Amino acid sequence: MLRTAILSLLTAALALAQAPTGYTDTPLIPGTQWRIHDDTRPRPEAITAGEFPRGERPGTPPSDAIVLFDGKDLSQWQSWKGPLGYGYAAKEREGEIGPPTWKVEDGAIVAVKAGSLMSKEKFGDVQLHVEWASPKEPHGNSQGRGNSGVLFMGTYEIQVLDSYNNKSYADGQAASIYGQYPPLVNASRPPGEWQAYDIIFEAPRWAHGKLVKPAFVTVFHNGVLMHHRKEMLGPMRHKKTTAYVEHDAEAPLILQDHSNPVRYRNIWARRLNLD
Ligand code: MG
Repeated sequence: MLRTAILSLLTAALALAQAPTGYTDTPLIPGTQWRIHDDTRPRPEAITAGEFPRGERPGTPPSDAIVLFDGKDLSQWQSWKGPLGYGYAAKEREGEIGPPTWKVEDGAIVAVKAGSLMSKEKFGDVQLHVEWASPKEPHGNSQGRGNSGVLFMGTYEIQVLDSYNNKSYADGQAASIYGQYPPLVNASRPPGEWQAYDIIFEAPRWAHGKLVKPAFVTVFHNGVLMHHRKEMLGPMRHKKTTAYVEHDAEAPLILQDHSNPVRYRNIWARRLNLD
């Protein structure tokens, strides 16, 4: 009996240790020498970010911001059960919008395994501030640990992941442009600690059915630069080559449900027009 229990425990531990931290059989990312989620792509150097400006207390939005979550309720949100990233932009299948399913606890939103969270407001060019924390007790490894994501226009993902001593593929770690570009460094805080993203997203433009300007993104993680006006290759896509698909000029922000109880707080946005 004990022998069987030990054996199954060992098997489980072995499976965990062998969970992939990257791939070697995916297509090349155009313009780079790397495959999508390439296991051999160098992981950014880990650094220690400076002290969070307000410690354990959330920050406050500037006066002209659209406040999406101030610690109280989900009145600015709804639930989204449908495709994200490329599938969302290409309307690969119908999604279902309903009342928000995520919980509000101690002034924070907690992701629940019941669909993603979609803003009622729609945005094109935008400055976004969001604070997030991965679960204090880390479970799983690689992409299975503290996974969520911030998807601009439901389509372009800046990855949320517990990347503190958690090896995963470089283009999938925290603050990566998922499936495209690793961040410049890894400024992740330990699990359970609050972290901040400050992001400037420039929406793509089309004219007469042709892409005339791709999406660009600038990302700070805990005050440290991750991407400087990086040209996005297209919508977020897992293990596949991406390509732009024409979509509306404004679309909702989506926080990804990836089955991990990631928390969010102090979410605000400022509409921009960067034409
Ligand atoms: Mg994600």
